[in-house]
Amino acid sequence: GGTNLMDLMKRGVETPDAIIDITRLPLRQIEKRKNVVSIGALVPNSELSEHKIITEQFPLLSLAMKAGASPQLRNMATVGGNMMQRTRCPYFYDTALPCNKRTPGTGCGAAEGYNRMHAIFGASDSCIAVHPSDMCVALVALDATVQIQSGKTIRNIPFAEFHRLPGDKPELDNTLQAGEIILGIELPDSNRFSSHNSYIKVRDRNSYAFALVSVAASLEKNGDIIKEARLAMGGVAHKPWRLTAAENFLKNKKATEANYIQAAEIAMQGAKTFQHNGFKVKLGKNAIVEALMKAG
Ligand code: SF4
Repeated sequence: GGTNLMDLMKRGVETPDAIIDITRLPLRQIEKRKNVVSIGALVPNSELSEHKIITEQFPLLSLAMKAGASPQLRNMATVGGNMMQRTRCPYFYDTALPCNKRTPGTGCGAAEGYNRMHAIFGASDSCIAVHPSDMCVALVALDATVQIQSGKTIRNIPFAEFHRLPGDKPELDNTLQAGEIILGIELPDSNRFSSHNSYIKVRDRNSYAFALVSVAASLEKNGDIIKEARLAMGGVAHKPWRLTAAENFLKNKKATEANYIQAAEIAMQGAKTFQHNGFKVKLGKNAIVEALMKAG
């Protein structure tokens, strides 16, 4: 849909020699195939969030997508584009300021600057930016797979391996190689996580704003007992941040507020804050508890 690329080109952050229009490629399916639900890379965000298969089987994905951007942007933006969108770090968008992601080797303006929106997990000395997507937070929680094609070769990778941490190469947001194209994503065709879901997004405005923190929570329950929990956060790392230790803690536990509080404590262990984003630790804990309470 070009919704992020146009922003970046207007500001001179991206200056492509050429742009290839792929909008007529046959990648707009939302359908069941063998044991998976297949979603094409060119499906608009609005269409996906309203589709019957998604609202019935994967309401977490629908909730997360509706929390993103504005209705106009969701009509234009695609699944593949949502995955490929770049950070909203203001230093990245201002070509007068240093930014290792935009111009490697120039330094990170945010590290010593205004870093209220920035990462508390997985940051490096090179970059402390966060990934801005809501959709991707739900997809990592739901164990999606990404289908990628290069020439005649198709490879499938776990969604959690698509985006990367900045390390010493912050210019790379993800593991897509030159010459590769995202065909789409696949979700396991199951109803396990169709009943107990919540997506909490804490932001400065109620619409058209990126998350300070967001939490995707999905529970598979047997009465009061949690058979399996899925938890992921947005707004806290360079990639959608799966909370595996908290998920493991919740397995076979009672669905109680006390257990949710303990899970939130576990989830936020190891958080490293910067000058202006220390509030994200408490905000994150509270958002996790709220998301689990709503889902449970
Ligand atoms: Fe650039 Fe990353 Fe630093 Fe932001 S946090 S200024 S994107 S290097």
